[in-house]
Amino acid sequence: MQHRRRGTVLDLRRENRAVVLSTLYFSRPRSRQDLSAATGLSMASVTSVVRELLDEGIVTEVGSEDSDGGRPRMLLDINPDYGYVIGVDIGETRIRINLFDLAMTERAKAEYPLNPAQHEVDEVVRDIASGVTAVLADGGIDPAAVLGVGIGVPGIVEQGPEVLVHGQTYRWDAVPLERLLRERLLREGTALPLRFENCAKTMGQAELWAGAGSGAGRGTGNTAVVLIGSGVGASLISCCSTCQGTTSSAAEWGHTTVVLEGRRCRCGSAGCLEAYVGAEAILDRYGSPAAASAQSAASAESEESRLAELIAAADSSPAADAVLAKTAEYLGVGIGSLINLFNPERVIVGGWAGLLLGGRLLPAIRESARRNSLRHLFAAASIELGQVGPEAVTYGAATLPMEDFLNGASRPPLRNRRASIGLPS
Ligand SMILES: [Zn+2]
Repeated sequence: MQHRRRGTVLDLRRENRAVVLSTLYFSRPRSRQDLSAATGLSMASVTSVVRELLDEGIVTEVGSEDSDGGRPRMLLDINPDYGYVIGVDIGETRIRINLFDLAMTERAKAEYPLNPAQHEVDEVVRDIASGVTAVLADGGIDPAAVLGVGIGVPGIVEQGPEVLVHGQTYRWDAVPLERLLRERLLREGTALPLRFENCAKTMGQAELWAGAGSGAGRGTGNTAVVLIGSGVGASLISCCSTCQGTTSSAAEWGHTTVVLEGRRCRCGSAGCLEAYVGAEAILDRYGSPAAASAQSAASAESEESRLAELIAAADSSPAADAVLAKTAEYLGVGIGSLINLFNPERVIVGGWAGLLLGGRLLPAIRESARRNSLRHLFAAASIELGQVGPEAVTYGAATLPMEDFLNGASRPPLRNRRASIGLPS
């Protein structure tokens, strides 16, 4: 959310436009009168901004509603085909690429398996570029109609003149992912704005836009989103925006120590939460050696299926049940610390393993969190399962360029810029 500040008439126009467009975007359809009431802007200002948005084809009139005694009011909606965004999830076991229209409806997707033990940068870059080309072709979309690509990465994203990714568990040390991907896409004839963010943060953003954190309570309270896959991360959201931390690495929650001199973690340390509740660690504690030792990309699938088998076995196998009970216990310790430190209104449990585990373990996780946090703070927090599902990271990643568009921080798609200066599209 942008803060209001004094500025030029042009600044004011841009600000009004962003406020009107965002307000309509998150609650639509709406009439001009509604928008005026919701934004506090005068009818004249709203009408002027709406005229501009209609002229540019971003907004359309979709019918009318009766008003008390007055003339029917025209209802406005977003034009889903004005532009498109692409979300990428560099997961542990696969790369997902989804294409969304302006209303965030999925239009095409592609997936490439990834060996959890090997995240070769070249392979990742090649797969993302192939996926971007594939979803555009599948959706029948001109690259010039794309607003941007958001990429959720499993590591710390250092935003700067050159975006660098640090993924200690994958031995990614200051990988210039943005430059590599931009160069690769250019070689394939596509130039698109790119945005990078940590995958736990993009998942948090997805829950905020479309899931457990959205709707009436959207952005009103502090939310902690925990992402459990092979690795473990968290995203802290406060009043609509995600905490960034000093080096943009807030909430590397999976690498907080829960056991002194405990199990070895992939980060090189010992006793980290991830070494107990990450999918790989859970399978390892159960005595099922993790997929990390296997060489083929097919092992990617097996980590998910083996965790599902372990959960299914828990009804009849005391050993499986005990491993899961301990997992809930450790997760409760981690979530209890988040509650004590951050005082969230909601804790949302997501990630592919989190969603698999949560169905069975949520009551036990809540009970452990209760025992491991202060009573007053625990009482203020709900612990829920994520609602966006396994594609939360791609969805959240795609909201990054969408957010830039709504805030007026990005340019219209190339296709529309060509049209506005009279060039053929
Ligand atoms: Zn660790």
